[in-house]
Amino acid sequence: MKRFANCTNHPIILVTAALLALSGCSGLAGPAPQEKTAPPATAPEQTKQKSVKPEESKPADQQPAPSAKTAPPAEAKPDEAKQTEAQPPKKPPATAAADTEAMLADIEVVAEPASMAVLVNKQRKLPENYTPTDLVFPNVPYLLPKKSEKRKLRKEAAAALEALFAAAKADGVSLAGVSAYRSHTYQKALFNHYVQKDGVEKARTYSAVPGTSEHETGLAIDVSGIDGKCAATSCFADTKEAKWLAEHAQEYGFIIRYPEGKEAITGYMYEPWHLRYVGTEIAKEIKAQGITLEEYLGVVPASASE
Ligand SMILES: [Zn+2]
Repeated sequence: MKRFANCTNHPIILVTAALLALSGCSGLAGPAPQEKTAPPATAPEQTKQKSVKPEESKPADQQPAPSAKTAPPAEAKPDEAKQTEAQPPKKPPATAAADTEAMLADIEVVAEPASMAVLVNKQRKLPENYTPTDLVFPNVPYLLPKKSEKRKLRKEAAAALEALFAAAKADGVSLAGVSAYRSHTYQKALFNHYVQKDGVEKARTYSAVPGTSEHETGLAIDVSGIDGKCAATSCFADTKEAKWLAEHAQEYGFIIRYPEGKEAITGYMYEPWHLRYVGTEIAKEIKAQGITLEEYLGVVPASASE
């Protein structure tokens, strides 16, 4: 099955990533001067990206940084190269948008997008133009520019994140936020851009479909160690930060949303850095049972895994 990144969504933007040799879903690390929250534009921006692009094209949040030693996913790399050339779009924008709309029409819309337990995945999307009303800037370190919109989380999740970071620090584990909120507008512009270039079927294999990224809920955040090492890449799994999170995140209402061995249920590869806020009650139950949010909500049987 093909998986695409929940967080892979900002293509353009990512000159930063390249510099840092980081990858992942976010614009990540570092003072990314270029990192803008603005929706992906189109051709012009692309040229800027040159060699960067890793992020976007990679299938998952976490895919190892193409720039580094790990080879990027097959479907990603080719694309990347192409994108840097600012090719003429294959489809007129209007057609691409219509294709995207048609594809989106097949995905179920969640009834309560503002619920702390909202289930957003490849089969369930947020309503068109859903925007959380209580987004704030959590007071924690980030590998993002100070005013980046991607720092934001919904208020309750932000407070919980601050408590989690403080507790980690007390245990000698210094965390940093890598990427949190992503607006629907941004996601949509980005996706349309890819559809225009590659067609809807191909685009959905490497870019999250608008409305289906958990980052749009304002309840999800990718984290790393303060040094940014292994940010949103698979090597994060072996860090002490990942181990601390796996052990304690639920105490603050967060779950490791895409656990190892549950790929068939979540639709995503193991992403030890992607935290989802659901509140302590649900988080503790999910952790205790070793299940996913899908299983907790009864959308799929708990035995369906593996
Ligand atoms: Zn993520």
